[in-house]
Amino acid sequence: MVCVYKHNSRAYFTVGPFYFFIMNELLKLAVQKSGRLYEGSVRLLKECGIEINNGNNQLRVRAAEFPLEVFFLRDDDIPEYVQDAVADIGFVGENVVKEKNKQVDIIAQLGFGKCRLSLAAPKNGVINKLDDLQHKKIATSYPYVLNDYLQKNNISAEIHEISGSVEIAPRIGLADAICDLVSSGSTLFTNELKEIETLFESQAVLISNKDLSSDKKEILQKLLFRINAVKKAKNNKYVLLNAPNDKLEIICSLIPGMKSPTILPLADKNWSSVHSVINENDFWNVIETLKMNGAQGILIVPIEKMVV
Ligand code: ATP
Ligand code: ZN
Repeated sequence: MVCVYKHNSRAYFTVGPFYFFIMNELLKLAVQKSGRLYEGSVRLLKECGIEINNGNNQLRVRAAEFPLEVFFLRDDDIPEYVQDAVADIGFVGENVVKEKNKQVDIIAQLGFGKCRLSLAAPKNGVINKLDDLQHKKIATSYPYVLNDYLQKNNISAEIHEISGSVEIAPRIGLADAICDLVSSGSTLFTNELKEIETLFESQAVLISNKDLSSDKKEILQKLLFRINAVKKAKNNKYVLLNAPNDKLEIICSLIPGMKSPTILPLADKNWSSVHSVINENDFWNVIETLKMNGAQGILIVPIEKMVV
């Protein structure tokens, strides 16, 4: 049975033991229309249980079963739209947020779109370190961030702003060096450039307008809860192993898990099965130490969502 009722001027409905808010407001999310962040943005929403069907290449799409409306925009415009409340929140590269310098809050790192903003110069040239850039010409699409960085490092250089294909600037005589985004380094390699300095590491972030209504803040908290569960799951693996009972204490101390490991008896009375969660960062070290301490039959399983 479905019941609808009101409390504190908010509408609710219940289905069996579950209750749901009826949100009048929709949270407006801006994502990149096409490009390197599009896939990651739509995938993250999907992993959060939010389906976006943008089959017809529309500008705005209402999400199914979540009070969210997604706007598809150029990534460079997202910080300004979020500042001006055209969108409430956005998924965009931290590099763009820094360069545009708009009044928005960075709420979370999203774990995709990873790259770094770096200075690079011709491989066999005279520029090998930051100081060599003194009085040189640097081509970039990041004039604001670069200028700030050069000033802080007492380098006086001429910044030449270009909007794309920055990597060809030294070859066509437009600049002595470049400041551009790098991920694998293959573009630099192809253009016979070497990286000489990293300004900062970047990834996609969730930005928010500074004056969200309380209803919109509530929707944002629900979205963040899901994003954090997805991120946590990606950083952790489920581990199952067999341990001799006399080694249980040391083995459990190596994989403490969320609260403590689960220990189940095996048919062989001298052995137990241990289940726990293990962090991706120290994964191989821990596995090796587990083996050294007598663990056998170690299984590692991906986790889909993780709520702590
Ligand atoms: P738009 O048409 O939306 O303006 P764009 O050409 O400016 O797109 P993309 O090249 O699609 O942008 O890059 C979008 C974002 O992807 C970058 O701002 C950055 O945050 C991230 N990114 C990750 N790796 C790289 C990389 N190797 N080169 C450029 N951007 C990268
Ligand atoms: Zn762009």
